Amino acid sequence: MLIAINENNQSVLAVEANKSTRYFCSACQGNVTLKRGEIKLAHFAHLSKATCDAFSEGETEEHLKGKLGLYQSLENQGMTVQMEAYLPELKQRPDVLVTVNGMKIAIEFQCSPIPIDTIRSRTEGYLLNGYAVMWVLGKKLHVKTSLTAAHRAYLYKAGNQYVLHQYDSQNGRTHTLSGFHKKASRNVSFKSSVSKECPLLLCNHDVPVNDLSRIKERSVSPKTLIKEKEKVRRLSLSRQESSRPFFEQLYLNRETIDSIPLPIYGHVPHEWLIQSSPYLWKYTMWKWLEEKPKMFVLTKHNLSRQLEVWLNENRLSYYYIPTLNREEQLRPFIEFAHDLTVGGYLYRLGEAKWKISQSR
Ligand SMILES: [Zn+2]
Repeated sequence: MLIAINENNQSVLAVEANKSTRYFCSACQGNVTLKRGEIKLAHFAHLSKATCDAFSEGETEEHLKGKLGLYQSLENQGMTVQMEAYLPELKQRPDVLVTVNGMKIAIEFQCSPIPIDTIRSRTEGYLLNGYAVMWVLGKKLHVKTSLTAAHRAYLYKAGNQYVLHQYDSQNGRTHTLSGFHKKASRNVSFKSSVSKECPLLLCNHDVPVNDLSRIKERSVSPKTLIKEKEKVRRLSLSRQESSRPFFEQLYLNRETIDSIPLPIYGHVPHEWLIQSSPYLWKYTMWKWLEEKPKMFVLTKHNLSRQLEVWLNENRLSYYYIPTLNREEQLRPFIEFAHDLTVGGYLYRLGEAKWKISQSR
């Protein structure tokens, strides 16, 4: 812990504390001692460890340093910020608590991996109590080649898009990843920006542009789709576990890789939200449409209702992403409807309204 209370009930940062004063824990009121060594950053530790559930001892140097770095740079921006504020209603103590336009944001500098269920329960605890939570990832958790399910659970919604903050406590730089989208069957693509003077998106007000704008520019060529289809054909031979349910569905419906619409093999920008096989959910939507009468009109509304059915029947699952709403869940499906339209399988009637093409 980096902050404690002195005998006059004032909060004191460990870096500004001195050995001759008595200090207490802000959560359990227990005695704490100042530790100031050569290697680790100055910090406090409980004299008796057993009693306090708000503070865990044995924080790493990276964690101590990062907390202080994040706290100080936000404070330097003139923001209302508290270090290790104890929240009795949650029995939690976020690393840093910042208040922006009346909104309280808990900042958690996470340096070691924890299970997704833990990320989820902590995130939801904050949200239920009226706090936003911004996870900031330490070195060990930084995105390397691909965005994992855990990375998705750490996402923060800024404006109308998701961002992921990674902090380097050595140089005080924040790397903000944004604009997540899927281009081909490869990893999820994103942009990365580095900021030194202002960590996190809190101080700069230019929230990145809505990445939905990409949909309109996007047009996938049939040549690319044929290439993707060949990849799927190779996948069918490799017996990869994750794509097996798709091939099973094809088999059950007496269909083959070549008998179903080509756009099923394409990739839409927001499919990174969906955990199920990218071919399976597209095929499921196509099958549903195919069984509809000729005059059926596909709308966002009936798609949303059908999505509810698929989710209840466990035919589809999304990654856990905090605050993911129905509108966002629908995006990949709308993008796929766009691809089906380009491919001539659907006919666009208006904004988010389609008819099944007669010529199919
Ligand atoms: Zn304590």
